[in-house]
Parts: sequence; structure tokens; C-alpha cells
Amino acid sequence: MSRYIGPVCRLCRREEAKLFLKGERCYTDKCGYERRQYAPGQHGQSRRRKQSDYGTQLREKQKVKRLYGLAERQFRGYFHKALRLKGQTGENLLVLLERRLDNAVYRLGFACDHAEARQLVRHGHFLINGKRVNIPSYLVRANDVIEVAEKSRKIQRINDSLGSVERRGVPKWLELEKAAFKGVVKAMPAREDLNQSIREQLIVELYSK
Ligand code: SF4
Repeated sequence: MSRYIGPVCRLCRREEAKLFLKGERCYTDKCGYERRQYAPGQHGQSRRRKQSDYGTQLREKQKVKRLYGLAERQFRGYFHKALRLKGQTGENLLVLLERRLDNAVYRLGFACDHAEARQLVRHGHFLINGKRVNIPSYLVRANDVIEVAEKSRKIQRINDSLGSVERRGVPKWLELEKAAFKGVVKAMPAREDLNQSIREQLIVELYSK
């Protein structure tokens, strides 16, 4: 599966939004988007043409896909899953993405960005309800207990990330017990717990064409 391995700040500049893909750096004045708020590339600074409806929908989809670090095929798979669920498809899509284990690990503050969270999960550093789970796409459920494996509690990256969790904050649907290296899924995420700047309806319109 192809994965983007180029400079990540370029993605924020392309989507004209801070996607927080680079850990601590995103909170400093070294943030690439803060420094250069124009699209990347040779013509990035020239005036933009008016975007078509399709262009607006495409950019919104790309933004969310990049926010969660997913490839097109995976992202489309979540959309089809969301379609089959009751309720609003756009909201279902965001809730499914938010429930991914790598996302929950990031939101709890065990990793400083999604890419790091995914790597830590793949390397088997987390237990769910006492069992090791190394699948980043695992969907967490209400009352699941996510904890750092005993032997992994000394990992510097996890400790560094936990050190700055207060600044980032933990969303309402999760609860962190920092000293115990543990987090609990209090409830399924609701729309108001998720990124308010996302216009999920545009993604639904794009994939419904
Ligand atoms: Fe985006 Fe973070 Fe880079 Fe800023 S530092 S442009 S938020 S990835």
C-alpha cells in the first residue's frame, strides 16, 4: 500500500489547515503552516482561482484522509462501512475514524502524532482489556481499557508525549489515568467531540457522485 513519505507540513499548507502531523513542532513557531500560509509549489503564492464544487469536496476529503493518515482505499472502505450504519453517513464516517486504536492512543496522549501512534501500536506496546492488540485499525468500544504494556512504560517517546498531554487535552469520550499508563473509553465519540472544522457532508457528496 502506498503511503505518503514526503514533507508533512506541505500537506497542511495544501489543505490550508493545521493537521498536527508533526508532534511538538506543531505547537511552536516553527510550524510550517504558520510560517508560510500559502499552498506549496511554484505557483502557491499566486492568486487562487475560484474552486469548483468538486474541488471543494475533494479538498475536504483529502484533509480528513490526511488528518487520520489513511490511504484512499482505506478511507473509502470506512465510507462504505459508514453508509451501512444507521444515522448520518458523514457523522458515522468521522466516528469510525475516531474509534481507530491508533487515533485513541494519540488522543490519550501516548503518542505525539498519528504516525507515531500507529507505529507504537504496530510494535505491540498496547493492551486492550488486558490483551495485546497490534492492529492500528482496531475499533475501540465503550468501556474498553487501553493501557501501555508493562515493559513498554519506560519508552521515552511515550513518556515525553504524556508529559505534554495537558496542553493538548484529552477529549470527553476518553479518560486518561496518566500515572497508571491507562485510558478508558467512557463512551462512543459524538459529533460534538470531534473536529468542528470538518464539513463531512462534502465528503458524502463527493463519494455519492
Ligand atoms: Fe502542520 Fe504540524 Fe507542520 Fe504545522 S508543524 S504545518 S501543524 S505538520
